[in-house]
Amino acid sequence: MFKRILIANRSEIAVRVIRAAREMGLETVAVYSEADRESRHVAMADRAVCIGPGPSKLSYLDQEAVLTAAKISGADAVHPGYGFLSENADFAEACAKRGLVFIGPPPQASRKLGFKSAGKAVAREASVPCVPGTKGDISTVDPKEIEAIGYPVLIKASAGGGGKGMRVVREASELKSQLEAAATEAKAAFGDGSVFIEKLLERPRHVEIQIAADTHGNVVAFPERDCTVQRRHQKLIEESPSPALTPEIRREMQGAAVRLAKAAGYQNVGTVEFLFQDGKFYFIEVNARLQVEHPVTEAVAGVDLMELMIRIAAGEKLPFDQERASQIRCHAIEHRINAEDPDNGFMPCPGRLNGLELPGGAGVRVDTHAYPGYTIPSYYDSMIAKLIVTAEDRPRALRRALRALGELKVDGVKTTASLHAKVVAHPVFMSGDFDTHFIETHKILDREAAHA
Ligand code: ADP
Repeated sequence: MFKRILIANRSEIAVRVIRAAREMGLETVAVYSEADRESRHVAMADRAVCIGPGPSKLSYLDQEAVLTAAKISGADAVHPGYGFLSENADFAEACAKRGLVFIGPPPQASRKLGFKSAGKAVAREASVPCVPGTKGDISTVDPKEIEAIGYPVLIKASAGGGGKGMRVVREASELKSQLEAAATEAKAAFGDGSVFIEKLLERPRHVEIQIAADTHGNVVAFPERDCTVQRRHQKLIEESPSPALTPEIRREMQGAAVRLAKAAGYQNVGTVEFLFQDGKFYFIEVNARLQVEHPVTEAVAGVDLMELMIRIAAGEKLPFDQERASQIRCHAIEHRINAEDPDNGFMPCPGRLNGLELPGGAGVRVDTHAYPGYTIPSYYDSMIAKLIVTAEDRPRALRRALRALGELKVDGVKTTASLHAKVVAHPVFMSGDFDTHFIETHKILDREAAHA
């Protein structure tokens, strides 16, 4: 086992790593930017190293600065969290070169899966159903190939993420100009202009499978997470189990995720994402890291995924088999609380939290780096807390979520908490029968805010 883990990240996920490491008796090293001196992860870690100014490029994305911090602090492993360097295979390799264990998948596996189009190729080889589409990246396209897929289609950036770089094309006449625009946009956002085309599913749910794979060839798949409530393809609420899945489909999806992980030589934890429509599921991509919504699975499966990541990276075997991983112990829902103004186009609201009262009581977990008096910097994403509720079934979990959201009091900045309460109290959300367009279809926001 390691002695000292450096956390190449910030915010709630850095706090999450520190908590798991401390429970395992391991020391932690925080890195932080000048804008993050007051962040809770800095105070909580056993030691902390400043790695540069506020902008991520000059701090959290500066590989050399992170690796130097690891060296001077005597760390023997690096946890990348999510975002920043977490899916950067070059960084994982650079860690290995400096004798540091990267707590995540091996670089070969993330390279195989990192590009959406490459991930789909691996999925096809492993007989995992994919959304119909072009077989690889395209610069020009034969209109006949698209006719065969059938309009409407979606242009996606191979290097895309965070819901960015997607364009819907409803008819052939728009295709050429949209392809060019998408490639330019992708190049600007991701430094890579490759794009591919997929059939647009009109009413899908987003359902994903958390997997864990050790270095001894064992792979397990946990119960699914349903992340169908989204705004502009970004997840807002995640729950498990999905109100839409039968036990048979769940088993099939888990089987598909395990086949894919094995075909890619995957190790550590990861997520295989699918769209689900009319009783069928279709692979879309792999997230080769721990995800924001992992606590939902931790609750439902009764597992500490962060501890598991660390143990797998240290070479330990998975401590349970598929049967144990499949057990569903409760219903769990996660709400991403962002410092954004839902009534004003989700404009980020950095600033000082004059007051912060967090919910508590039975079945309530809050993961956050924020505290009363904390100032949210403007450089980073706007998530300030994750509220996770668990109960014995979905109706009880919904009531608990409403109760907990009501207890959350944030003074000083606007947050998305009221939006979450609106969703949870909505009869269609309660019914469980909805798709990724739920927020727009049911006019949860006023028109202007929804499209801003
Ligand atoms: P990103 O990596 O940018 O998050 P994903 O491929 O994971 O992109 O897709 C994000 C979301 O976009 C999905 O959850 C879904 O709502 C929507 N989406 C992606 N592919 C399709 C598709 N082929 N048809 C309809 N919606 C899609």
